Amino acid sequence: MTKNGMRLTGVRKSFGGLEVIHGIDLDIPEGAFVVFVGPSGCGKSTLLRMIAGLEEVTDGEIAIKGRDVTDLDPSERGIAMVFQSYALYPHMSVRDNLGFGLKMARTGAAEIEARVRAASAILKIDHLLDRRPGQLSGGQRQRVAIGRAIVREPDVFLFDEPLSNLDAELRVSMRIEIARLHRELGNTMIYVTHDQTEAMTLADKIVVLKDGRIEQAGSPREVYEDPANSFVAGFIGSPR
Ligand code: ADP
Ligand code: MG
Repeated sequence: MTKNGMRLTGVRKSFGGLEVIHGIDLDIPEGAFVVFVGPSGCGKSTLLRMIAGLEEVTDGEIAIKGRDVTDLDPSERGIAMVFQSYALYPHMSVRDNLGFGLKMARTGAAEIEARVRAASAILKIDHLLDRRPGQLSGGQRQRVAIGRAIVREPDVFLFDEPLSNLDAELRVSMRIEIARLHRELGNTMIYVTHDQTEAMTLADKIVVLKDGRIEQAGSPREVYEDPANSFVAGFIGSPR
């Protein structure tokens, strides 16, 4: 594998004796934008949550930068996750929402302020720092949620359907914004969606999942022009 990338080897997951992820092998090159796409229930979130350390791996190994992280706590993995439900603290200002995780990790106040400023400049939310989440639009809330990941300066960003609560127009502009973030930050990003258009436009590498298995992994072009089977052809080829 690429020395600084991520590698999943034989990753399996069972819930109560029922296996839902059936042995995933996958290389994720450092700095890549990798999209997990597939129908609802195929295991996208479970896979992402295992990478994040929010869900235990039943069998197999996850290595980040050559280090086996399978048994490490989420905070020890150098990853940050952005959720579909923004999970902002309603009683805190945007500034405090952004800095909260760092404060819990005992980062110094000056360092927190510097990182909050840098992240809010990148996301163009500098003018919103004194507001509360209730005073923000859906798109602004999603920016704050992404900002909370950026301030942690992770090696890898994980996104679980971050745009699915937004209306169609906002989804397109946030998608462009996330592509820009990837260009500017250069981090590895793993992005989960059931939206073929999002997958095709954002990914360097698309991983098409069905029933807990990889049907095909490749560049958007490979998957589109040379689908491995009729499922991939139907899923990626079908207009929304
Ligand atoms: P996706 O994100 O692709 O919609 P999920 O990863 O959420 O799919 O779910 C994959 C499968 O695992 C589904 O069959 C789902 O019902 C099951 N599953 C997910 N989480 C749990 C859980 N905590 N307990 C039992 N089954 C679960
Ligand atoms: Mg999901």
